[in-house]
Amino acid sequence: MKKNLFKIVALFIAASTLSCKKSADSSSSGTSTTPVPDIYKKIYGATDMYVEGNYVVIKSNGLPDHKTVYYPTSNALYENFSGTTFGGNTFNKNPNTISAQTLTFKIPLNPTVASSHSATPLGPIGVSLNGVPFFNQYAGPNQPLTNEVVSFDQYWGHPQQTGQYHYHVEPLYLTTVKASKSALLGFLLDGFPVYGPEENGAAVTGLDAYHGHTSVTADYPNGIYHYHITNTDPYINGSGFYGTPGTVTQ
Ligand SMILES: [Zn+2]
Ligand SMILES: [Zn+2]
Repeated sequence: MKKNLFKIVALFIAASTLSCKKSADSSSSGTSTTPVPDIYKKIYGATDMYVEGNYVVIKSNGLPDHKTVYYPTSNALYENFSGTTFGGNTFNKNPNTISAQTLTFKIPLNPTVASSHSATPLGPIGVSLNGVPFFNQYAGPNQPLTNEVVSFDQYWGHPQQTGQYHYHVEPLYLTTVKASKSALLGFLLDGFPVYGPEENGAAVTGLDAYHGHTSVTADYPNGIYHYHITNTDPYINGSGFYGTPGTVTQ
């Protein structure tokens, strides 16, 4: 009997020690305990995700989860590719090889329309579901993608000089394997969601200057402004961000 009581007391002490440790950990991490809204959990390629003030912070190594000719041949996801790519062009591989990145996207939890719309920068302008960044419709300052599209791989992405893999156009792996042509594909830095080229079973039409419109979507039953990726220039985003962008560090 006495032995049992001792056991119970010991268990109680052990349990309270554990709970103390838990609270010490969460207060020392410096991050908020606000839960991440479920919609962002669709970004399955994120390596970490948490809420910080009015932003959701999404971390990614930027590595595609699909086969590509741009991985080193030693990588299990390396797959040779030749023939026709985006726009019916003959594929012409660029000299770059994919390498892991350290991307931190900080995007508004409650996106709002900007009073003056800022241009999208070169480099990452958003994050797709697999953690690969979206890039805009330019190869360089005011240079169209004309000469770059030939280097888009089997899933229409390619790496730039530092090995950062990205999508300027429809991420074919997401629209044909992981999700669908009408599904949520990611978010731009202003927090507004990005959808595929179809809606209600047809190619989307009537997009505004920023390449989006406001309507109900499967994920937002109350309606939201959202971008659509189409197969004609400007592909993902038009004349800048619809909303006020957050930040990306790399
Ligand atoms: Zn590019
Ligand atoms: Zn739509």
